[in-house]
Amino acid sequence: MYFIFEIAFTSNKNYIANLIRAYATQEEMEVDVLQTVDKIIMTFNKEDEKLEAFLLGIEDVIPASLFLGKGKHYFSEEKPALMPVEQVNLPLNIAPCPSCQKEMFDVSSRRYFYPFTSCNNCGSQHPFLTKYPYERANTTMKFLVPCRACEEERKHNALRADYPLISCIECGIGLRMLDKETEHMALNKGDYRKLFKASAGAISSGQTVLMKTMHGYRKFFNPNKDLDAVKNIGFTTDTLETGLAKSPYTFGKTADGDVSLSTLLMVSAAGFNEHLMMVEQEFNALLSIERPLLRVATKSDVIKNIYGSSVLVKYPDDGMTMLLAGEAVKHGLEYIAYVECDSSAEADFLVDFDMPINTQKDMKLFINQDTKLFVSGERILFPAKVQGNKNRVTVAHDLACVEVDGKRIIDSIEVFDTVNTDEIYVLENEDFESGHANEHRFEQYKASMMSVLSEHYKVGQKAIGVHFDGSLHFLYYNGKTVIDAVPPIPFESDNLWEKIRTLREGSDRLVGNYKKAYPEVWERLDNLEGDMDIFEVTAITLGLADESFEGISAEALSFLGKGGLQIDTRVKDNRFDNYAFLTSIMSYQLGDVPNNFMCYSIYESFGDYIGEIVPQLCDKVGSNTVVLTGETFANQSLYGRIQRTLGQKNPIMSKNFPMGKENAVHGALYL
Ligand SMILES: [Zn+2]
Ligand SMILES: [Zn+2]
Repeated sequence: MYFIFEIAFTSNKNYIANLIRAYATQEEMEVDVLQTVDKIIMTFNKEDEKLEAFLLGIEDVIPASLFLGKGKHYFSEEKPALMPVEQVNLPLNIAPCPSCQKEMFDVSSRRYFYPFTSCNNCGSQHPFLTKYPYERANTTMKFLVPCRACEEERKHNALRADYPLISCIECGIGLRMLDKETEHMALNKGDYRKLFKASAGAISSGQTVLMKTMHGYRKFFNPNKDLDAVKNIGFTTDTLETGLAKSPYTFGKTADGDVSLSTLLMVSAAGFNEHLMMVEQEFNALLSIERPLLRVATKSDVIKNIYGSSVLVKYPDDGMTMLLAGEAVKHGLEYIAYVECDSSAEADFLVDFDMPINTQKDMKLFINQDTKLFVSGERILFPAKVQGNKNRVTVAHDLACVEVDGKRIIDSIEVFDTVNTDEIYVLENEDFESGHANEHRFEQYKASMMSVLSEHYKVGQKAIGVHFDGSLHFLYYNGKTVIDAVPPIPFESDNLWEKIRTLREGSDRLVGNYKKAYPEVWERLDNLEGDMDIFEVTAITLGLADESFEGISAEALSFLGKGGLQIDTRVKDNRFDNYAFLTSIMSYQLGDVPNNFMCYSIYESFGDYIGEIVPQLCDKVGSNTVVLTGETFANQSLYGRIQRTLGQKNPIMSKNFPMGKENAVHGALYL
């Protein structure tokens, strides 16, 4: 008789199953750990005395993960016989696991305050990779010789068995801290600790710390401080300027830009409910070992004053950031902020290390109830092992899919050596010269749609697709190739008023009224360059600080009501009319409709429009498969509306790849 414990797991990444295996080895527990395409199954001998203790202990060892779902247990006479997913040894780039974190905060450990602490199944590994295959000789750590204790660990610690990047304070990477005059080198445990303590102290007192993290240079600061400073100075130009001479900040700005565009780093989970409006799924995602970036609605006045209606939030995601956050908590801080920058950014202090690193773009996640969608980025999902049977290399958004030792891997272009290939597919406009005689250029929307079809085993079957990434495409896949069935009407933002004036009868009156009510906006819209997208122009019209699609999306997030305005998207030849859309927004604006309500309604109207066109296309071609791709879908009001209008068709989207851009490198394998 067997005791079987199953947990849903929606990724082919192996680190959670491997952590369980390592823990079992460490505890000398007999268990079969099987990972299938959608779950991890642990099979125990029912009579095993250690079973209960093992299951209790597992909670301290296994981190929360984005991919983990509900668990269940049952008894069975037979062991489950299911197809396991393939084991692939690819370098990770996630937060340290609970065991590694414990070492970092344990004064008796060799890794006390050592930010590079990691094991086979956690931490920052990819930043050190220089090329495949993944072994120490192919990483920037190759010149560091592991100390005796580390060598012993590689043999006896189940978590670090043969771990390529093993290191500790004794044999690992040194840190240094510099201000304008002095430099401090951290050489022992006490120094490492002091360095993070000093950094947190500086931030707490309003100074800035530029720190090299495993995700590149980040400039950390206290987002409250500059606002306070300006309040204390007062608002006369004179004193403001005197104040500026002393402080690196201008009002609401860091030296690198607007504070409201920084990422809010929650240094402990304690302040979440006070400052942010989040559902449980968002809270769990932020704390997961993958540590994605999430845009959430703001709640406390202090955070609203800095960031407006929504903010990009992060929980500490690498050793450096985590140790800094740990010390910041001791200064009574609930959050700090950072901007990504390079080593030359101005700051009061610099914390640096000499090991070169290879950074990945951070991953943005979108959550709607139980649905999680990866919006954009590289970390967490890449490198990825994929299927494919053609001798083809694909390139898109600085990522490449290349065969290494018989395995097809997607990763940053620079970690691959030159290879022989029959053909190469490169995204149109990608800045990449292959020099290959058989090079093909492909469109984003085609590859994105193919990626989703392949993930859902629907290659070769007819389907309708919608690709929405600023501009909106309706697509038809006939089983062989993707056709742009209803391309977007090109939008030209020059001579805008002329286009609106002649739209329909009475439009010229609107233009006149608008000029009177909003002379400054009118003037700006009168002088636009021709190549702006409709969302930028809409954001300018509404006077949003962030003049982009993101800005509208962020504004929409703060609308908590239900039901929107009907924004006219007047369909001309079955196509979306940009000028009718703008005209409609302007008339609502003249009617004093609040911005957040309007932004919410914009997405709802798009949802209605898509919900109207897609079923028509489905009927026309005789297919009920609907594919949605493009980052614009990562929006609560649009996504919610689509679920209502197209829910019956169960639209399919990217699972293991970002939904809009980076899925192309995968999809191009199927073009
Ligand atoms: Zn670990
Ligand atoms: Zn060592």
